[in-house]
Amino acid sequence: MKHFPIFLAMENQRLMLSGGGAAALAKLRLLLKTEARISVFATDPAPEIADWAAAGRLELHRRALKPGDVAGAALFYAADEDAAEDTRTGAIARAEGALVNIVDNLSDSQFLTPAIVDRDPVTVAIGTEGAAPVLARAIKRELEDRLPPTLGALARIGKSFRRAAEALPFGRKRRDFWAEYYFDAGPRALAEGGVQGAEKALGDLLEAHHSAAPRAGHVQLVGAGPGDPELLTLKARRALDEADIVIHDRLIAPEILELARREAVMLDVGKQGFGPATEQTTIAALMIAHAKTGAQVVRLKSGDPAIYGRLDEELTALDEAGIDWSIVPGITAASSAAAGIGQSLTQRGRNSALRILTGHDTAGFAEQDWAALARPGATAAIYMAKRGARFLQGRLLMHGAAPQTPVTIVENASRPNQAVLESRLATLAADLDRADMSGPAILLYGLAPRAGLAQFAQLPEVLHGP
Ligand code: SAH
Repeated sequence: MKHFPIFLAMENQRLMLSGGGAAALAKLRLLLKTEARISVFATDPAPEIADWAAAGRLELHRRALKPGDVAGAALFYAADEDAAEDTRTGAIARAEGALVNIVDNLSDSQFLTPAIVDRDPVTVAIGTEGAAPVLARAIKRELEDRLPPTLGALARIGKSFRRAAEALPFGRKRRDFWAEYYFDAGPRALAEGGVQGAEKALGDLLEAHHSAAPRAGHVQLVGAGPGDPELLTLKARRALDEADIVIHDRLIAPEILELARREAVMLDVGKQGFGPATEQTTIAALMIAHAKTGAQVVRLKSGDPAIYGRLDEELTALDEAGIDWSIVPGITAASSAAAGIGQSLTQRGRNSALRILTGHDTAGFAEQDWAALARPGATAAIYMAKRGARFLQGRLLMHGAAPQTPVTIVENASRPNQAVLESRLATLAADLDRADMSGPAILLYGLAPRAGLAQFAQLPEVLHGP
C-alpha cells in the first residue's frame, strides 16, 4: 500500500488551491462539501469560482500565489494545469508546511484525492494509487447504485441515538440493536414516515431491545471443509459472520479464519502445548464458559465435524452443562480428495461400500476387517494414514490383497498446494517415505487417479502439483 487512506478532520481547517480553470473547478466541487475554510488563488477565475466567493463559500484572491500565502493550511492543491506554475506553487506550499497535491501529477503529490461516494456521514473513498482511474470510477458507480440515498439520513439519525443506545450492554446486544435499525426497521420507517418516522422507530426499537430477554448462548459445531474457502457451506459462512468466539483447530486454513466477523475472538486450540488428555476438557470448558455469557460460539473443525472430530465428547460436555448446540456439516477430506483425482468414491460393479478408517487412533493403528479390505474392488478413505502406512501395507498384503492395488494419497486436498501421490499397495510405504509429505494427507485405498486425466498421466510414484 503506497498510500494509506485516512479521514481528515475538516472543521476549522484551511485548504488552499491555486488555479481557476476546469481542474480547479473539479477539485473545488469536492472540497466545498467539507467544513473547511477554502482560499483560492487565481488571476482569471472561472465564473463559478467568482460566484462561490460572492456567496461567501470560499475566499478568492485574484492574483498568483506568493510565498507566505499558504502558512497554516493543511492541504494545498496545485491546479493551474501548467507544469511550471504547479511546480512553483507546490514548492511554496510544501515549504510552508501544507501537504501538496499536484493535479494530474502522481509522483510529485504527497496525497491523492480518492473517488468518493458521498452518503454523509457515510463516506466511501476509493483509490487505485493512480493505477486505474477507470476502475475507481466503475467501483464508484456500482456503489452509488448499491447504497440507498437514504443511508446518510439513517446514519445521521443513528448518530444522534448513540448515547441513548449505550443503555444497552456493550457487545452483542448493542450490535443486534443497530443491525436491526440499519438493515430492517430503519429503512422501513424512513420510507413510511420520513425522518420523524425513523426517529420514532429507533426509540421504539431501543425500548424493545432493552426489555427483551437476553439472548441465550449457543455453540455451533461447524465443519470448515478441507481448506478451500469456497467449499464452506452457506450455513458455515453465516455462522462465521455472526460469531462472537471462534474456537478452531490447527488445520483450519487462514483464508477461512479471515471470514469470521472482525470483532470475533479467535482461539486456536490446536496449538502445541495442550496435552492430548487436557485438550478436550479445556476445549469443552472454553465453549461452556463463553456460551454461559450469552456468546454465539463457533467450534470450527476441519472437514466434517462428525468424522474424526471428537464431536460426541464435546456434545456430551455441552449437554451436561445445559448449553444449546447445533451441528453444521462440512465437506470431508475424502470427498475433496476424490474430486481432486476425478474419482467416484463408490462405483457400480466395483465397490458398493466405502470404508472410512483412521491410520492411528489412541492405541496405534486400529485393527480392521483386513480380509474384507483385501478383496478386489474394496475401497477405503484412510485419514491420518501417513504414519501407519507401513502397518497398513503389511496387514493388507498378509491378508491377500493384490500388490498392484492402486493407492492414491492426496495432500492438502482443495488447497492451492494440493499434491497427489499415485502409488500401489506393494510400494506404498517406500513411496510415501520418498514423497516426504508434511501437510494433511488422506489415503484413498483402491482408487487411482482417473485415467487420461492430463495432470495425472505420468508415471506412478511421482508427486504432482495441481
Ligand atoms: N474432520 C476432518 C478430519 C479430521 S482428522 C474431515 O472430515 O476431513 C485430520 C485428518 O484429516 C488429517 O490427518 C488428514 O488425513 C485429513 N485431512 C484433513 N484435511 C485434509 C486435506 N485438506 N487434505 C487431505 N487430508 C486432509
